[in-house]
Amino acid sequence: MAAMTMLAERLRAVLGPSGVIADPAAMAPYLEEQRGLFHGRAALVARPASTAETAAVVALCAEHGVAIVPQGGNTGLVGGGVPFEHGGEIVLSMGRMIRVRAIDPANFTITVEAGCVLANVRAAADEAGCLFPLSLAAEGSCQIGGNLSTNAGGVAVLRWGNARDLVLGLEVVLPDGRVWNGLKGLRKDNTGYDLKHLFVGAEGTLGVITAAVLKLFPRPRDIETALVGVADLDHVLALFARARAASGDALGAFELIPRIGLELAVAHVPGCHDPFAGPHAHYVLIEATAPREALENLLSQAIEDGLAVDAVIADSLERRRALWRLREAVPEAQKREGASIKHDVSVPVSMVPEFLRRATKAIEAALPGVRVVAFGHVGDGNIHFNLTQPVGAEPKAFLARWEEMNRIVHDIVAGMGGSFSAEHGVGRLKKGELVHYGDPVGLDLMRRVKAALDPQGIMNPGKVL
Ligand SMILES: Cc1cc2nc3c(=O)[nH]c(=O)nc-3n(C[C@H](O)[C@H](O)[C@H](O)COP(=O)(O)OP(=O)(O)OC[C@H]3O[C@@H](n4cnc5c(N)ncnc54)[C@H](O)[C@@H]3O)c2cc1C
Repeated sequence: MAAMTMLAERLRAVLGPSGVIADPAAMAPYLEEQRGLFHGRAALVARPASTAETAAVVALCAEHGVAIVPQGGNTGLVGGGVPFEHGGEIVLSMGRMIRVRAIDPANFTITVEAGCVLANVRAAADEAGCLFPLSLAAEGSCQIGGNLSTNAGGVAVLRWGNARDLVLGLEVVLPDGRVWNGLKGLRKDNTGYDLKHLFVGAEGTLGVITAAVLKLFPRPRDIETALVGVADLDHVLALFARARAASGDALGAFELIPRIGLELAVAHVPGCHDPFAGPHAHYVLIEATAPREALENLLSQAIEDGLAVDAVIADSLERRRALWRLREAVPEAQKREGASIKHDVSVPVSMVPEFLRRATKAIEAALPGVRVVAFGHVGDGNIHFNLTQPVGAEPKAFLARWEEMNRIVHDIVAGMGGSFSAEHGVGRLKKGELVHYGDPVGLDLMRRVKAALDPQGIMNPGKVL
C-alpha cells in the first residue's frame, strides 16, 4: 500500500495532477468494458500526454514492480483493456496522445499518436485529399493504438487489408521504459526482423504503442454499392470470385446477410426496409471501387446465369447508406430479440459455405429452436456466427450453454484450419480457447517472446497468454 502511494506521488510529479486519476467515480469508466462482462479495479489511471511521459510512467512502474494495463478507447470486447479485480494494477490511458504528427501526401503516409480516435485519423487523411481505409462501427471512439494492438479489420479488409497491412512504422515504449523508435515510413526495408509486427495484435502485452506511421491511399473515384438476393450459399462463393474479377479486384466489401438477419433488422431497427419485392435465402452487400457499368454488367450476367436472383444498386448516397444500414443493424436487431451467443470466426473463404452448413446443422441439433444468425465479412472468410435464443426461452438458461456452443463451433472451425478469433483478439475472454486450439510450438514461441521483452511480467499480465 505504501509502495503504491509512493508510486502515485511520483507519477503525479511526472504527469501533473491532471495526468493521474485516483478518484473512484472518475476512474469507473476505465474499469469496465462496454458489454459489462469484465469489471476490474485499479490503483489509479495514468494519462500521459507524450511519449516521454509514457516512458516515465512505464519506467516507474517497472521500478515499483506494478503491472500496467494499456487502454485506448476501451471498445475491445474481450477484457484485454480493463484491469483485473485484485486492484493492484494501473490503467495507462492513451486518451491524451492525440496529435497528428505529420502527413506526407507524396509518400502517402500519416504519422499519428496512439490516442488518435480512428474517425479523426480518417478525417485528417480526407482533409489531405487521401483515404485511410480502416473503418469499423466503433471508429468514433476506438483509438489507433487499440486498432493496431488488436489488429482490427472492419469493413474494408478485402480491398486494403487489416491494421497490420496498413502500418509502416511504430514507436513503442518497452516494458523497461525504453523507447523503440521504429517510426519509418518505408515500403521497403529489409534490415532484419520486422519488429513492428510483434506489437501489432499483441493486445498491450509486449509494450505500449505511442505512435504509428500509417499508409494512405488515393481517394477512390467511384464507389458503387449493391444488395444482391442469392438462393444458395455456393452461389455466394461463385459470385464472390466473379465480382473480384469483374471489378478488377476492386471489391471494397462483400458482406453476407442471412434472411433471418434482414428480417430482424427490418422488424427492430428504425430506417431498415427490405428493398426487394420477395424474400431471398441470402443477401450479399457488394461494394466496389469500380465504375457503375462494371457492377451492372456483373449483376445482370450473374442473374442470367442463375448465381443471383435479384439485385438493387444504390443510386444515391442515401440509398447506399440504407443498404449498409441493413448490414450494420443485424447485431443491434439481435440484441432486441433476446440473448445471443457469439462467435467471431474465420475459415478460408473457399470453405465458408461448408462451414455455415456444418456448424448450423450441429448447433441446431444440440439446441433445438436456436436461431442461427450468421453474417459478416464473407469476402474475408470472417463470419459472425451468432446464435439468437429460441423464442420464449429463458435468456439465462440459454447463455449458460455458451461454452458448449463455443466448443461445437470452434471445433468445426479448427478442423477447417480456421481461427476462433478473427476480430477483437484474445484478451481474457478467449485465453482458454488459445490454450485449447493453439499450436504448442507456436504457444511456446509466444511465451518466449513475452519473457524476452517483459521478463518482469508487468505489461498487461494475464491477457492473451
Ligand atoms: C461496435 C463495435 C464494432 C466493431 N467492429 C469490428 C470490426 O468490424 N472488425 C474488427 O476487427 N474489430 C471490430 N471491433 C473491435 C475493435 O477493432 C476494437 O474494439 C478496437 O480496435 C480496439 O480499440 P480501442 O482503442 O478501443 O482499444 P481498447 O479496447 O482500449 O484496447 C484493446 C486492447 O489493446 C490494448 N491497447 C490499447 N491501446 C494500446 C496501446 N496504445 N498500446 C498497446 N496496447 C494497447 C489494450 O490493452 C487491450 O488489450 C468492433 C468493436 C465494437 C465495439
